[in-house]
Amino acid sequence: MQPTQPQSVTVLGSTGSIGVSTLDVLARHPQRYSIYALTARERIAELAQQCRRFSPRFAVVASEQGAAELRELLAGEDLPTEILCGVDGLCQVSSDSQVDTVMAAIVGAAGLRPTLAAVEAGKKVLLANKEALVMAGPVFLRALFNSGAQLLPIDSEHNAIFQCLPQPCSNLGDAGVEKILLTGSGGPFRTRAVNDLHRVTPDEACAHPNWSMGRKISVDSATMMNKGLEFIEACLLFNARPEQIDVVVHPQSIVHSMVQYRDGSLLAQMGNPDMRTPIAHALAFPERIDSGVPALDLITQGRLDFEAPDTQRFPCLRLAREAMDAGGSAPTALNAANEVAVEAFLQGRLAFTSIAAVIEQVMNRAQAVELTGLDAVETADRHARELTQRVLGAL
Ligand code: NAD
Ligand code: MG
Repeated sequence: MQPTQPQSVTVLGSTGSIGVSTLDVLARHPQRYSIYALTARERIAELAQQCRRFSPRFAVVASEQGAAELRELLAGEDLPTEILCGVDGLCQVSSDSQVDTVMAAIVGAAGLRPTLAAVEAGKKVLLANKEALVMAGPVFLRALFNSGAQLLPIDSEHNAIFQCLPQPCSNLGDAGVEKILLTGSGGPFRTRAVNDLHRVTPDEACAHPNWSMGRKISVDSATMMNKGLEFIEACLLFNARPEQIDVVVHPQSIVHSMVQYRDGSLLAQMGNPDMRTPIAHALAFPERIDSGVPALDLITQGRLDFEAPDTQRFPCLRLAREAMDAGGSAPTALNAANEVAVEAFLQGRLAFTSIAAVIEQVMNRAQAVELTGLDAVETADRHARELTQRVLGAL
């Protein structure tokens, strides 16, 4: 069944790893999807190329300077694209009445406002930007409930869990679910000598064995904070209690996660590690469309391994569980401290092993408050960032 009118899609963060994969899937189905807006902070020349290829109605750039650069690159070309800038522009193209679907693929807290704007406007929201959900937890969920927006997970693990649950599924217990098994590869340092970890470089941390991703999430995968954020994301998305979620290390990244049922069934979603599969799944849900990903060949794959996570090696997993248990703004502080510490590591100002140590100090000192609304979220985020800078300054 083909929709008669193409769905109009905004891609937030179109020049990033998820953004580029999304455009790859969209381009395979021109009858089905049209592109309403593309957005980026950097790589403006690439954004210009995307505008030439997809002729969006809007392109949004983070800064005035970037917008001027894009205007110059596209000057004299006969494109329908209007250029906007800043957070207001992002929120406009996320909530406009002409938009059906918003891919939220900005990295970090910068994606919160535009993603919330899409949720509040009742869009179909494809959520890659896990930090937005983690930092704003109850505020995000309240907006979702009030608007009736449809939220579909893009994170491969959450997309897998979604696929293994009956839909709709408002209560895990009623669906006979006992546990969610959240898989993670263990990243590039799963087997590296612990004593060596303090001197690993940003390039080593970003060389993920199975996935090609942006630098921030690559470092998160190396510390396993990515799994910590995903644990919080899973609690929120599936209304799960923390004890209902186990993390399982699976180095091949073929099983993307599993759901264990009361009757002994364990359902897994498998596939090659390529984000175009969850993107295509969420775009077309409940239908299925071609994603460009080749079928998984289990014979060639040969074996699948599973092991328990090493929480000594990966303290970020414990920190995320503690933040979820503490509730309120604790996950907001965890996310903010992590973003600042990862940035310091990427700039060569912080040792890899100090990322977790810095976050732990911030978590011990940040005051947990109730998240009553967006203001409270942004205040808690700002305070935790300032505190992290002070902790970094005192090292
Ligand atoms: P990336 O760094 O490759 O891309 C980020 C995009 O956001 C870019 O287009 C960038 O220009 C834009 N951006 C960055 N800062 C911005 C700002 N301040 N304002 C406006 N735009 C800004 O990141 P990615 O790997 O594509 O990840 C995007 C999101 O998806 C992250 O939240 C990540 O956790 C999540 N995710 C990614 C993957 C993956 O395979 N890459 C998998 C699961 C989830
Ligand atoms: Mg993931």
